[in-house]
Amino acid sequence: GPLTVAVDGPSGSGKSSVSKGVARRLGLAYLDTGAMYRAATWWCLRRGEDLTDQVAVARAVRVMPLVMGLDPSAPTVHVDGTDVGEAIRSTEISTAVSAVATNLDVRAELRRLQRAVIDAERTPEGYAGGRGVVAEGRDITTVVAPDADVRVLLTASEEARLARRSLDVHGTADAAAVEATKDQVLRRDRDDATVSQFHVAADGVVTVDSSDLDLEQTVDAVLAVVTQ
Ligand code: C5P
Repeated sequence: GPLTVAVDGPSGSGKSSVSKGVARRLGLAYLDTGAMYRAATWWCLRRGEDLTDQVAVARAVRVMPLVMGLDPSAPTVHVDGTDVGEAIRSTEISTAVSAVATNLDVRAELRRLQRAVIDAERTPEGYAGGRGVVAEGRDITTVVAPDADVRVLLTASEEARLARRSLDVHGTADAAAVEATKDQVLRRDRDDATVSQFHVAADGVVTVDSSDLDLEQTVDAVLAVVTQ
């Protein structure tokens, strides 16, 4: 039957690459819920919303025309017909996203959309034809899909996370680049910790530590949890 795999982890844990790899290997759809919070932030900023105005932000997100493309080899994000896949990775969005993600009405709305996608992937009408989905984020194992067949918390040492983030953002993990990434990553960790305790595995969630594993080894470690 259909398989739902939930993967949570902090920024730089490698959860996006790992989740895509797992989805590809199993022929499942892939849902990046962080991209949904980023898209919501992009939408609010484009509309000129004051991100501290909780009511206005929630109202804007409720009418956001969001379309998530679930192909793990080429995931896409469209808002109101615009491909925002690159724009949502900007420093501007990375800096502002926690303000939107801590809005409880926004979380309720995006969780509702995420559950709808996960449920749709259990049916033949889904992107993966009813095979299932890998959904990744911060609260998937605990709140969005606590009933998932497989739940994994992907962790990594702070050192490993900063190096990966630095590679993503600056294309290098030399000392200067890591230092430039550090403030942003640690601040976002702190801001995010107020909405979800994603550094601690909930009951029944399997922790996979990727600090000393490369991407392929980490994918294999998660696949081992799937088949266990
Ligand atoms: O995973 P990514 O770094 O793209 O997530 C961007 C932001 O979206 C996180 O920093 C967090 O504020 C928020 N987020 C969340 N819940 C999720 C996924 C992401 O609050 N399930």
